[in-house]
This record gives sequence, C-alpha cells and structure tokens, in this order.
Amino acid sequence: MIESLYIHIPFCDHICAYCDFPKVFSHYFDKSLYVKRLIEEIESFSIPEKSLRTIYVGGGTPTSLSVDEWKPLLSCLSRFLPVEEFTIEANPESLTRDKIDLFRQYGVNRISLGVQSCREDVLSAMGRKHTTEDVVRAVKDLHEAGFETISLDFIYGYPGTTKADSLKDIDFALSLAPSHLSFYSLQIEENTLLGKKGTFVDDDSLAETYEAILARLEKDGFHRYEVSNFCRPGKESRHNLTYWHDQEYYGCGMGASGFVSSVRYQNTRSISEYLKGRNVRTKEKVLREDRKTEFLMLNLRLENGFALKDYEDLFHEDFQKAHEKAIQRLDGALCIKDGRAFIRKDLLYIMDSVLLELL
Ligand code: SF4
Repeated sequence: MIESLYIHIPFCDHICAYCDFPKVFSHYFDKSLYVKRLIEEIESFSIPEKSLRTIYVGGGTPTSLSVDEWKPLLSCLSRFLPVEEFTIEANPESLTRDKIDLFRQYGVNRISLGVQSCREDVLSAMGRKHTTEDVVRAVKDLHEAGFETISLDFIYGYPGTTKADSLKDIDFALSLAPSHLSFYSLQIEENTLLGKKGTFVDDDSLAETYEAILARLEKDGFHRYEVSNFCRPGKESRHNLTYWHDQEYYGCGMGASGFVSSVRYQNTRSISEYLKGRNVRTKEKVLREDRKTEFLMLNLRLENGFALKDYEDLFHEDFQKAHEKAIQRLDGALCIKDGRAFIRKDLLYIMDSVLLELL
C-alpha cells in the first residue's frame, strides 16, 4: 500500500540563481485554478481515507499561496488526516502568522524553512528575497504556534563563501533551536542562471566544508542520517525516508514525479497545460535490474544503509552472495553488520565511488 503523497506548488515570487526545480513566476498564473486542478489530480488516485503516513507539500514556494488559496487544498487533504508527518516547505518572507495558524489548524506538524545562508549579501546574490530577520521572525512564530518539528535548509559552497561562513550558518541555525537541518552542496545545472554564467564549484573546498559541517553538527548533538540531512534523535524526515527507502509514493502537481505500481512518472512541466487539465505524464515501468540499482543508490545515501532482509524480500536474492566480489574489492568501504549493509561513515560523502563498484 502506498503511504506517502507529494504535492508540488510551482509558484515563486522570484527566481533564484541556482534553481533547477519545476517553477513559474507567481503573478502570471491563476493560483486558485491550479489548486482546483491539484485537487482533481489527488482525487483521481482514489487514495483510501486515512491510508497515508506522510504528506509533503514542496515547491516552488508553497507559501506563495494565500490563506484563501490554501483552504480548499487543506480541506481536500483533511480526509487523510491524521498522518504521522505532514510537512509544508516555506520561504521565510511569505510564511505569515495567519498561514502558520491555518497550517496548525489542519494538522500540519512539520515546517521546512528555506534559509540557505545567514549572510545578507549571499542571500541577495542567490536571488532570495528574505533577510535573516525574516527567518528569526518566522521561526519565532512557528515556536509560538506550537510547532515542535522545524527543519532549516542551507546551501554551502556558494561562490564567495567559505568554510567559516558555513560554520556561522550553523551558529545561526542552532540559535533558532531547530530539530532538523539540511546542508546541500551547491549544484550548478546548465539551465540555471549560475550555469549560464559559467560558474563552477571547487570540489576539494566543498569536501572540506562538508567535513567541517559534519564535525560541528555531530558535536552539537545532531545525528547525520542521510548524506545532507541531520537531526535531533527521532526527528528524521519520514517523508523523505520514503524516497531513500525506494518506496512508492503519489506525486501531484505541475512537474511532480511519482512512483506507483512499479511505474515512475513525471507530470507535465507546462503550467498552461496543467491549468487546462491536460496533464500528460511521461511514464517508465521500472524493470527489476533498474530497481536494484535505484534501491542501492537511494538506500546507501543513508548512514544506516538498508536491512539485508529488505533487499532479499524485494529481489529474492542474497545481497552478499550476489555482490560477493564487489564487496571484497571494496575492502571494508561497504560494511555488513547486524543484518544491514551501509557505507563506511567517513566515505559517505564520496559514496559514488563505492556505488560504482557495486553497480
Ligand atoms: S530555489 Fe525555491 S524559491 Fe528559489 S526559484 Fe527555486 S523553487 Fe523558487
């Protein structure tokens, strides 16, 4: 049974220099009509009431919707509540107190806030529209409204920033008492503003910054459970674990992807087609060998990897026997312990080289 639902809100009030997500400018499109189409798509799956464990609304900028635009969507989702985890991604400048109260009223129990940096000049260079003051205000409002699970997202390796800046970001983050932190290294895709400018990142300095982030967060009691994600005990993102455990999920909205009945699909990335109700999906049946590759690539991003029994149940083969030679060649880089397989802690950041041996 599928237990997770992802909903994509593609609207943004501004476009960030590094962004490769499916998104469109807010003010050009009818957001109420978008919500109507989303509800139609959610209903088309006939998801049984109370069958979901996690709901995640991401973007784009979900908080670019007004309270009145949010209400019909939340009302549609209320048939699935309560769920273990109901997350909404938010941008600090548009996470207003009335939206926070509405989210609370509808059972949202986790907010993921896009902070990215505590340096105002870096935020401005990224094309972000918030200030650190907005972040402080938003987190204060969330705490006051009773949100206990708050995640803050940061980017490291942005041109002009150093390891010291990332450590300052951590100081700033910790002063806000979040339960979860994500630190993503800057990825430059060709079709982004940064990519078009020919910007590049220095892999050695990224690796050094990552090591410093990891050491500092572990010292402060955060547990790294995925290569870029850290949390207080028990505060892992259950929705994102669905992806890393390679489980199926529904995905709704322009450009959203989903994984249903062994088929991976992606919705149209055309907002005008989606608004017309013409959501042409690309679909790909996942064959057994491809599923194995995906399973290993996703699960091995996790610090505790995967249970050998889960692999055996899914693929009807013994992982150790099937990969005996590769495991030997890896010479301890892939650990097998207590019925689990995982990448050695100090090699998680460079997992691709381990994966290459296995796949
Ligand atoms: S990074 Fe987020 S806010 Fe910025 S353009 Fe992309 S989706 Fe929108």
